[in-house]
Amino acid sequence: MACGSTNARPLGVKNEFDVVSCAECGSVYTTYSPWYSSAHFYSGFYLNEDELSPPEFVNTRLAEITTTFAPYRQNNRLLDIGCGAGNLLAAARKNGWDAQGLDVSAGAVKHVRDLGFEVYEGELHDAAFPSQHFDVVTAAELLEHLIDPRPLLQEVERILRPGGLFWTTTPHARGLSGRVLGLKWRCIWPPEHLQLFSVRGLKKLLRDAGFRQLRVDTTGGNPLEIFHAMGAVPNAPKTVDQHFDRVTTSYRLNESMMKSRSRRALKNTVNSFLNLSRLGDSLKVFAVK
Ligand SMILES: [Zn+2]
Repeated sequence: MACGSTNARPLGVKNEFDVVSCAECGSVYTTYSPWYSSAHFYSGFYLNEDELSPPEFVNTRLAEITTTFAPYRQNNRLLDIGCGAGNLLAAARKNGWDAQGLDVSAGAVKHVRDLGFEVYEGELHDAAFPSQHFDVVTAAELLEHLIDPRPLLQEVERILRPGGLFWTTTPHARGLSGRVLGLKWRCIWPPEHLQLFSVRGLKKLLRDAGFRQLRVDTTGGNPLEIFHAMGAVPNAPKTVDQHFDRVTTSYRLNESMMKSRSRRALKNTVNSFLNLSRLGDSLKVFAVK
């Protein structure tokens, strides 16, 4: 599907939805969601505490990430799609960007406006930004929620100036967790998560949308979740709230990892192994128009 092929094999049923794997590129997706609409899921979405006051290492990471956008600065405009509590926007502003956001959640929009940012409430297409308007467009953990990511990617390409950067992250279908846990992996979670990409599938999708220069890294992993899910099927998530435990578990793990230098070194080694072996559970994308 990500790559455009409709040749897929069934993986099974999760949350009463059929989940399939693309025979061409290995992306994992749900073909059909009868009551799909982003507004339905996310308009009333509440910001959780970790988002409203993120652990220090999250801010450090966001500062590092937004620093990597510097080579793309020309008109200084940055847009964060699905800006949530505005943490990325805040980091971008500290780095001198004229940063604005977009979110379908009224609560998130109000919160981020109170922080002094310009925010559009609604879908990207409805915002009707001028063509070639932004240096950088970011979208963390967004593509997996879309039944068809193509129109969004085409719109991102339209509003980016030539040579502008699209930065995004999304779960990796072919990471260690996806391979070891299969359908037990919490990231396979229809109808919230409808697409999990392989590196190949995501690259094809971005090239089709008009991006020229692509870098897709695989990073991270949550070993606790793997051990937990392998040993304890009865504890598999049954509700949406439990799904978000994954994020919390990662936070805790990251915090303890950052505390000592040797653990930090271990984490860096593990992360470079996961990237080189393409087994990380997250995809981190730099796509240049
Ligand atoms: Zn495919």
